[in-house]
Amino acid sequence: MAKLAILGGVPVWSGGWPAWPETRPETLDHLRAVLDSGRWAVSGAWTGQETWDRRFNARFADYVGVGHCFTVDHGSSALLAALLALDIGPGDEVIVPGLTWVACASAVLRVGAVPVLVDIDADTLCIDPVAIEAALTERTRCILVVHLYSCMADIDRVGAIAERRGLAVIEDCAQAHGAEWRGRRAGSFGHIAAFSMQQGKVLTSGEGGAVLTDEPALADRLERLRTDGRRYGAGVRRPGRPDLEEIAGLQGVNLCLSEFQAALLCDGLDRLDAQTEARALSAAWLDRTLRTRGWIEPTLPYPGNDRRAYYHYAVRVIPAVARRVPVVRLCAALTAELGIWVHGPYPPLPRHPLFAPDTLTALPRIAAARPDLPVAEDQSARTILLHHAVLLADDIQIARIADAFDKVFDNLAALAGPA
Ligand SMILES: *Cc1c(COP(=O)(O)O)cnc(C)c1O
Repeated sequence: MAKLAILGGVPVWSGGWPAWPETRPETLDHLRAVLDSGRWAVSGAWTGQETWDRRFNARFADYVGVGHCFTVDHGSSALLAALLALDIGPGDEVIVPGLTWVACASAVLRVGAVPVLVDIDADTLCIDPVAIEAALTERTRCILVVHLYSCMADIDRVGAIAERRGLAVIEDCAQAHGAEWRGRRAGSFGHIAAFSMQQGKVLTSGEGGAVLTDEPALADRLERLRTDGRRYGAGVRRPGRPDLEEIAGLQGVNLCLSEFQAALLCDGLDRLDAQTEARALSAAWLDRTLRTRGWIEPTLPYPGNDRRAYYHYAVRVIPAVARRVPVVRLCAALTAELGIWVHGPYPPLPRHPLFAPDTLTALPRIAAARPDLPVAEDQSARTILLHHAVLLADDIQIARIADAFDKVFDNLAALAGPA
């Protein structure tokens, strides 16, 4: 039996992996175009050429299938703008899945509302609609639904609950660019969709985000909220003059992206679909192969989720294996075999070290509960994640991933021993 790399043996693969973010000659062309344009900011002066911001907004709204898109500086800002546009604040409760990035809860706290953390569905790792029902109160205003890792949440059932109770839905698509539910793209279901384009995401400008909506009144608020209350003018644009007009009546902040970042997003969007296809092929092969091993359970998307985006490739080990060897140790062993960072999921939010509502002393004191979330706890103790860039590797490299899982399983006894 081959000795594990983590114990001094030879790794299964040491040939490297696709880099992320990736740059191509066209990426440099895009950046150079902004450099030479004389306009680096949305708030800059009209140059006679459409901003990269508006080019991307039009393309991405069209891509997702909604009427309006506005870039913002971070996914966290997208969530904040969405909550502000919906006028959610003190006294309101927002339902948030208990397994997600902490920004989902901190955005709610930032507007002075209470994040109500609920459990997840074991097959998809996304919010459990039954748990949503159980958490509703007369103060609930909004459901923040997150499409996590590689599965979409049950948008049909979440939408039905929201409609019955007159609630808003914010769709967090930070991990779901290009995913589809019954032929419609992620981001077209919520009243407002929030995307992140942070460096790790499948469409990225380093830092970045976007808010999308199909409702004109919300679009008007979102645009002004992100631009200090301004918006692109409807009138004649004059060279050398700003083409944002100052509209009275709505307090905004500046959440704009720079033109360099908007140009990077245009470049990335050109490749997104081809990359999504490539990732899906690799993931489908891994699902088929690893499922036969008996100790690994791939995630199982809802039937409606007919096109998956793979922000992360996620599998769970069966409880018997997790009891023998903690998942962090399995991840460390896989990392050593493959030369990529293999890791576990977020800790559930109720005990996430970054979830610290009591420290927001400048905001209204918020009594945020830390409920027990047994499914989130169980899944987070058994889940293993690989970053999406790995899925862009060739077939030979992808096969090494299965080999690494096999080697680790063959050596469980050695791993269970003293570290
Ligand atoms: C990345 C992410 C965010 C936050 O995006 P930033 O651009 O890092 O602020 C929010 N929600 C989810 C689910 C994310 O994955």
